[in-house]
Order: sequence, then C-alpha cells, then structure tokens
Amino acid sequence: ASSEAAIVVIGTGLAGYGLVRELRKYDKDSPVIMITSDDGRAYSKPMLSTGFTKNTDADALAQKDAGGMGEDLNASVWTSTKVTAINTAAQVITIGDKETQVHYKKLVLALGADVIRPPIQGNALEYVYSVNDLLDYHDFRTAVAKNNVKKVCIIGGGLIGCEFTNDLLNGGIETETVDPLGYCLPTLLPEAAGKAVQAGLEAKGAKFHFGPLVTEVNKSSDGLIVSLNNGETINCDLVLSAVGVRPQIKLAQEAGLTVNRGIATNRLLETSAPNVYAMGDCAEVAGHVLVYVAPLMAQARALAKTLSGDATEVSYPAMPVTIKTPACPVTVSPAPRDAKGTWEIEQDGINVVARFVGTDGELLGFALTGEGTKQKMVLQKLLPAIMP
Ligand code: FAD
Repeated sequence: ASSEAAIVVIGTGLAGYGLVRELRKYDKDSPVIMITSDDGRAYSKPMLSTGFTKNTDADALAQKDAGGMGEDLNASVWTSTKVTAINTAAQVITIGDKETQVHYKKLVLALGADVIRPPIQGNALEYVYSVNDLLDYHDFRTAVAKNNVKKVCIIGGGLIGCEFTNDLLNGGIETETVDPLGYCLPTLLPEAAGKAVQAGLEAKGAKFHFGPLVTEVNKSSDGLIVSLNNGETINCDLVLSAVGVRPQIKLAQEAGLTVNRGIATNRLLETSAPNVYAMGDCAEVAGHVLVYVAPLMAQARALAKTLSGDATEVSYPAMPVTIKTPACPVTVSPAPRDAKGTWEIEQDGINVVARFVGTDGELLGFALTGEGTKQKMVLQKLLPAIMP
C-alpha cells in the first residue's frame, strides 16, 4: 500500500479506465490505484459481439495491456487482484484472502455487471458459454475452433443474443436461438419491430424458438442436444447463454452500502458511504440502471470533475442504443420505466418506425428498424432528456 492515501478505482472496464482518463485532464498527479480481478487489458466490450464478423481474436481486440494503461494514465494498475471487502468507516479495502489492506482517500466502484445464469440441467454444462469479458471471449473462440463448431444454440433473444446470432451467421456458423418471450429484443422493442429483426436474421439463415425455456444440455453421439420445455430438442455443437446481466452489488451490499437494482448513488455518483462512488454497469444513478456505454461516459466526465474538486452532477440526454444486427439494423430509445403511453407504428417490410407517445401526445421513446433507423437524428431531437 502507498503512504499517501490514493484515489482507488475498482474495475478497469470502460467505466474505470474512462473515469481515470477524464480525471487526468484536470489532475495529472494525485496518486491513483486501479484494481481489477481480470488481466487489466483495455478493450471495447461492444466489440465482443462483432468478433466473428471481423474475424478478430481476443488479442486483437485488446487495445493495450495493464502496464501500458498504467503508464498512459499515470496510475498503478493491479491485475488479477480481487477486492473482497470494504470498510467504509476506516476507508480501507481488503484484497484477496491475504488480508492485504489498502487505505483510500476516495473509492470508486466500477465493478460492472454479472451474467445471469439460467438454471439448466444436463451432463454437458461445460459446453455452455457466456461472453461478458475478453477472457470469456477468448475461451468461447477457442472452444469454437477446437470443437470444429458448425452450429451454436443461443439462449436468449435479447440484445446480446441477437447480436451474437448475427455475428455467428456472418462467421459462417449456423444458429438456433431460444427465447421464452415472443420475438426478438422483446424487452426493448414493440412486436412489429421485434418481428422485423427476426425476419432480417431469418433471411440470413437464423432459426428461432420463441416461447420455450431451455431445460437441459446433454452430450449426444456427435455433439450436444439441447432440450426445451415444450418437448422440442436442438442439435448443436456449442451453447452460448445470453440471457442478460445484473449489476454487481454484492461487494457494496456486504459493506453496508445502500443497494437496489444497482449500487445506489445520487447524481454526484455518491453512494450512501462517505467518499465512496459508483459508476458504470454496477451503479443505479438516481434510480436509473443503464448498462450501456453512453451513460458511463457521461458519468466519467462528471465524476472526474467532482474528484478534482468541482462537484458536478451527471446529466443524461436522450441516449439511443444501436444494436449490432446488420441483417436488420436497430436503434432504440426506450421510454422511461413506468412511462404511460402507446406505440404508434409505421411499417414497410422490415423497415419500422415505432414512436412511443405519452398521454399528452409527446414523444417518450422510439424503436427503429431497417431503413427506419434513418429517422434517428430527427426523432432523437424530439425526445426529452433522461435526466436533464
Ligand atoms: P466491466 O467492463 O464489466 O468492468 C468491470 C471491472 O470490474 C472489471 O475490470 C472486473 O475485473 C472488475 N471487478 C469486478 N469486481 C471486482 C472485484 N471484486 N475486485 C476487483 N475487480 C473487480 N453497450 C453499448 O452502449 N453499445 C453496445 O453496442 C454494446 N454492446 C455490447 C455487447 C456485448 C457482448 C456486451 C457484453 C455488452 C455490450 N454493451 C454495449 C454494454 C457495455 O459494453 C457495458 O455497459 C460496459 O462495457 C460496462 O463497462 P463497466 O466498466 O461498467 O464494466
């Protein structure tokens, strides 16, 4: 541990590195320690679901290693180091089970989100992969190559599941995608738009099973057999689970911080404990859990100012999300949770412009597919800010 208490950032994803990059614009010298349980390589996580299209392996996706990042950011980056406890009264964190303790002046939790693992039985669970970081990605690509994979069964037809469906098809691998709901991206899109994405992907060769749950994955004579709760089965060579992520709250919860769906913060990104902040996928900022890049960049810009002495609240403009399904491009700006309104839909084949309109006729959100995505700029200007 260093003699002068440092700013300690736990996590070296886009949130952690993005914050320290912003911080160094205002404060070149304060000691910063960054701690990560992974290898600390900097990479753009959204690229994990375009790797087969672009034929890039994990090493090619890594932009810089931890040492290089430390040099660039004038920070000390500790890799393969898991933080196991926070004592907010003493302003100390514990590392590993060796009881190493590090004092902090300010602590930033940029812990990311964990993948949700669906309850599945069977004798081939070691062939069920999920891809949520560079190491997972390396393992998945290695398994695809090693097992000479021709077909992947994807569990989940949401953002990650549909992106991987498109990506694997682009890489020449067949897909069958299973989702208990009725169409693609069911939690983000109205049915007409979700069906358009389905049609676009089916035209590229995707197969979908909407309605059932996956119950078992077992070995067969020449690969795997995936069982669904409607009695159907799917033969494949590998399974990719993509049913969603959940903010990492355990460490904060055990430290007595207020948590809800994510680690609760105000608009200054302050948690319930003094000098402890949270940002990125793990944070619930004034009630908003937004597990995307644009919000964490807005957080990084605000928190960097706050940490260098200029207390700055984060603002969110409307932040549409582009989903990387080139077979049927999608841009969506979800309405606020619990917003009351109705979808107004114009459709021409896979080209959909769906406006979510509130009770006073105001635009609250939209979902655009195919050629409809060309309306993004115009509609985005009409949307209210998420957090002005
Ligand atoms: P992470 O990158 O998960 O970083 C968490 C860090 O915390 C890691 O370094 C980890 O090692 C560390 N850590 C956690 N716990 C501990 C501990 N106890 N001790 C030490 N270290 C710890 N968003 C978009 O906006 N557009 C997209 O197109 C898009 N595509 C995506 C595609 C895929 C396949 C995935 C998985 C996500 C995608 N997202 C996209 C979401 C976006 O990538 C995430 O919102 C963002 O990368 C989250 O960054 P983060 O830094 O908060 O978390």
